[in-house]
Amino acid sequence: METSRIVEALRALVRVPTVSRRAPEVVEPGVFARLHAELATHFPLLHEHLELVRVGGDALLFRWRGTGDGPAVVLMAHLDVVPVDGEAPWTHPAFDAVVADSPEGRAIWGRGTLDDKGSVVGVCAAVERLLAEGFTPARDVWLSFGSDEEVSGTTAQAAVDHLRDAGVAPWFVLDEGGAVAGGAFPGVTTPMAVVGVSEKGTTLFEVRATGRGGHSSTPARNGPTARVARAVLAIDRAPMPARLPAPAVELFHRLAPHAPAPLRVALSAAGGRLTPLLTRALAAAGPEAAALTRTTLATTMLSGSPAPNVIASTATAVVNARILVGDTVASVHDHLRRVVGDHAEVSVLEPGEPSPVSPYAGDPAFALLEATTAEVFPEAVPTPYVMMAATDSRHFTAICERVYRFAPFPMSKAQREAIHSYDERLTVEGLLRGVDWYAALLRGLPA
Ligand SMILES: [Zn+2]
Repeated sequence: METSRIVEALRALVRVPTVSRRAPEVVEPGVFARLHAELATHFPLLHEHLELVRVGGDALLFRWRGTGDGPAVVLMAHLDVVPVDGEAPWTHPAFDAVVADSPEGRAIWGRGTLDDKGSVVGVCAAVERLLAEGFTPARDVWLSFGSDEEVSGTTAQAAVDHLRDAGVAPWFVLDEGGAVAGGAFPGVTTPMAVVGVSEKGTTLFEVRATGRGGHSSTPARNGPTARVARAVLAIDRAPMPARLPAPAVELFHRLAPHAPAPLRVALSAAGGRLTPLLTRALAAAGPEAAALTRTTLATTMLSGSPAPNVIASTATAVVNARILVGDTVASVHDHLRRVVGDHAEVSVLEPGEPSPVSPYAGDPAFALLEATTAEVFPEAVPTPYVMMAATDSRHFTAICERVYRFAPFPMSKAQREAIHSYDERLTVEGLLRGVDWYAALLRGLPA
């Protein structure tokens, strides 16, 4: 596919506002059908040669039959986007897909360019190009495009169920997540191609205290509200222990040669004798760095009395836990119960375990991702890392031990901050290199 067709395909997808909502009735009717139609228009060979399976919702699952019968590969992306805050100061309107200059070079501006329609186009354009060349992959390739990732919906799970029923045990699964990240570490100018090998699990706990309630003119001491308040304070004062998971140690080792001298020494020491020191330094370096080193606990929703003159008979707080690999829902539950003591009860509202760590060192599939990156982004250093955010790919850990999270696009710090915010943009050059990356990956699949 030539450059202009690839750019026009992304622009066409961005112009269709596929905003997913928790309540299906508020999703604009027909909007996903319009997106599907744009895909069919822009990628005719893909639609002609690949088998389409509808697994539910507005998701698309394509099968590209390979020449060999080695375990299949799944390339994922999602078709939906998050809503646009009407007040946000977008330089160019969010759904106009304007092509204009940006600090990173000429770019396509709009909601979804990075998250995640760039990947949809990257994958589809690579397939379209290879089909035009008469290429057939060495093994089956499935394209799984969910339609409700941003609302933690069910379509990715439906794709997993379909593949499991069809007896497909993928060699590896690739979804959004990391990127070719520039300016990710202070003093480091080398871009890091960070590939997520695990993601934190999101679990909601409820802290609850109950009592007699009654009229606000005759309060008793230590009622439900006070007890929940004590529990919340206790949780805030007792963070989970900090540590450095293995992928973070690997990242620091790979980063070290590119870091300024004093930092280089510290990073090289990761995993060794100085690990506790490094971990403490990270934990103290601000909320973002700290989140790398531990399971985090954020108290979010509080509720108590329904009226100003009523003493609550029940008070609750929701604790949003992001569980780092190594901890479990049960171990975090134990921590919370211990910290809260007899102030309140702690229960699990919605469990979510962290994803297991996919293999990287010495692994042939990870090595293929590294080799593909070296070919298309020779300036970048590929490395595993642990993702803070959740992706649809977590569902695939049930049928595959190699789940990688990486979008092959260069992203500056400002671009990464624009995701779910305003001025989201992908450079034209970055989009084209992403297509090259997916094409090189597909060509490189072994029999
Ligand atoms: Zn996304």
